[in-house]
Amino acid sequence: MSRVERSWIVDLPKAEVHLHLEGCVPPSLVGQELPDISSLAQLLTHLDHLCGAVAEAGQLAEIARQLVGRAVASGVRHADVIVNPSHWPHWEHRLGAMFDALDGPLVEAERAGGPTVGLCVSLSRSSSREEADELTDAVLALGHPRVVGLSIDGNEAAGSHNERFAAAFGRAARAGLRRCAHAGESSGAGAVREAIELLGAERIDHGIRCLEDPALVADLARRGVPLDVCPTSNVVLGLVQDLSVHPVERLRCAGVAVSVNTDDPLLYGIDLAGEYERCARAFGWDEAVLGRLARTSIESCFATPERRSELLAELDHFLGSSAR
Ligand SMILES: [Zn+2]
Repeated sequence: MSRVERSWIVDLPKAEVHLHLEGCVPPSLVGQELPDISSLAQLLTHLDHLCGAVAEAGQLAEIARQLVGRAVASGVRHADVIVNPSHWPHWEHRLGAMFDALDGPLVEAERAGGPTVGLCVSLSRSSSREEADELTDAVLALGHPRVVGLSIDGNEAAGSHNERFAAAFGRAARAGLRRCAHAGESSGAGAVREAIELLGAERIDHGIRCLEDPALVADLARRGVPLDVCPTSNVVLGLVQDLSVHPVERLRCAGVAVSVNTDDPLLYGIDLAGEYERCARAFGWDEAVLGRLARTSIESCFATPERRSELLAELDHFLGSSAR
């Protein structure tokens, strides 16, 4: 089988649905250097340090501008960007100003026919019920049009505590926000099931440890619950030994809807097109398989239904005209 060309991968219309704003801060923008990162705990500490140095609206605008530039370079037509206010001390209590600062370059890009971007505000796993409720209520009261979803991330080593966050997710759902949740990375299969049942998550961030429970895998496949998988991130943080044994291939073969994403691209020095390319090489994926992953990424993204239809039509056209 011939190797899929990078140029074809870049041209393939796709969405990125697991991307943290915190992992899109260029260390040089805040005068820092990238440390060695090999665990989730280290990563989270580093993000606090990095994002804690972003105090100016102009810096946020530059982060958004570069994010859009990288999306274009990888052929990303829509990105759902997770932002966890707890990493941003200068903005945590000025969320409206933060979203406005990010919004300028995003509006500009969209007007120029570039990618659409939605923000998913993320609760922290380590938060108390009160803190989670407070943040959710602040986001709902703000009603910023750039915010499309509620998310939850952070280290689940000390427990997932999904029951603590169920009320916040319920309120977000009733207010029309989409829901995604980190689970099955630093937590096991049970947390994936809870994210769906207690939090009403429509999409699972990572989710790869669902493989610890074959019944759950079958259930995810049957219900079409999508997993947004981040292969390089899992290897760097020591969850998976090597890309060649990454569970994304087993999940795909089991019929689970999977997409490939970068998580924190600037921390790992990766881009989305490169991630597709590495996986294609590791698993022997051809253009048809990559096309199905791109379809899942678009179907599972939190763009408006109109935008999703537009992107699916663009994908069909691309796959139709590039078929050999
Ligand atoms: Zn993540």
